[in-house]
Amino acid sequence: MAEITYDDDADLSIIQGKKVAIIGYGSQGHAHALNLKDSGVDVVVGLRPGSGSWEKAEKAGLEVKDVPEAVAEGDVVMILVPDQVQRFVYKDQIEPNLKPDAALFFAHGFNIRYGYITPGEGHDVCMVAPKGPGHKVRESFVQGIGTPDVVAVEQDASGQAWPLTLSYAKGIGGTRAGVITTTFTEETETDLFGEQAVLCGGVSHLIQAGFETLTEAGYQPEIAYFEVCHELKQIVDLINEGGITKQRWSCSDTAEYGDYVSGPRVIGPQVKEEMKGVLADIQDGSFARRFIADQDNGALEFKALRSEEEQHPIEKTGQALRKHFGWTQGDDDYTDGSAAR
Ligand code: NDP
Ligand code: MG
Ligand code: MG
Repeated sequence: MAEITYDDDADLSIIQGKKVAIIGYGSQGHAHALNLKDSGVDVVVGLRPGSGSWEKAEKAGLEVKDVPEAVAEGDVVMILVPDQVQRFVYKDQIEPNLKPDAALFFAHGFNIRYGYITPGEGHDVCMVAPKGPGHKVRESFVQGIGTPDVVAVEQDASGQAWPLTLSYAKGIGGTRAGVITTTFTEETETDLFGEQAVLCGGVSHLIQAGFETLTEAGYQPEIAYFEVCHELKQIVDLINEGGITKQRWSCSDTAEYGDYVSGPRVIGPQVKEEMKGVLADIQDGSFARRFIADQDNGALEFKALRSEEEQHPIEKTGQALRKHFGWTQGDDDYTDGSAAR
């Protein structure tokens, strides 16, 4: 059984005794900064001058400085700018200003695992990675529940990196839910695999393929949307509560039987073979190199794929349909200028 830590085994006073510099105020940054502040931690947010997030952070009652100044004050420096820019921000603004014994924190292992950032030996290198989007990390903290984290220590220079990591996790509410011990390598590889093969890549393309199959066969797009997309949330909620078994218990016998006989036709052995290929590309670093090379090239491939996918007919159908129903009013309004689109 994995090692799980809860509130009782984490000492909040450790992080309360430190100055924590949160670099970035996007999806994760705002949640970490506000949760820590509410936990009685001394927080400074580091942003670039002219940053769109600067005013937002100040309005939320946080102290904001430019990145070098915030880093220079930090006993703990949590890097929460996008993965693809972390190495530049680290090299130019973080590394030269770090206190000699400052602890470096990450919410995802990408830059350490693939060697884009190599911290000096004097620094603890720790990870507190919430297993949920930043906006949920904040929302669940306010509700008193907390979002589970996975935690890791890559470099324990002080000999105190573990208690510090757990203390940070308690500060953002993670130990209320429970935090699981991992390594930077395991977190990076499994996180990338999960989002590519199942959570993001797998699910979105499964929905699109189902929608295409029904509409190409002449069914109404609105009906297709309900059948292959809208209901997914209820299904996922049931899985989240009680596993796939609870979902099968709740749906009709017809649906359950169809699951057993048709599911394996759709997700056949070739899908698992492809998943192994995806995992191999993550493990040998070729996915990371492709992502970073494209980013360094102005993200041309990324942007082209994004606009192509936004044109998929299900997006138009869904957008129009959601306006007519009460359950999602306002939810299409995610383009609030924050980096988390
Ligand atoms: P975001 O894309 O939301 O971060 C945006 C923030 O970074 C903004 O405040 C932006 O400021 C700032 N920023 C961007 N570029 C720079 C720069 N060059 N210099 C200084 N500041 C910059 O990041 P996420 O929260 O999505 O991701 C942060 C980390 O958390 C990543 O390691 C990610 O893998 C991890 N993570 C993210 C999750 C999520 O829910 N999104 C879930 C779990 C982990 P500006 O206003 O100036 O643009
Ligand atoms: Mg991820
Ligand atoms: Mg149905």
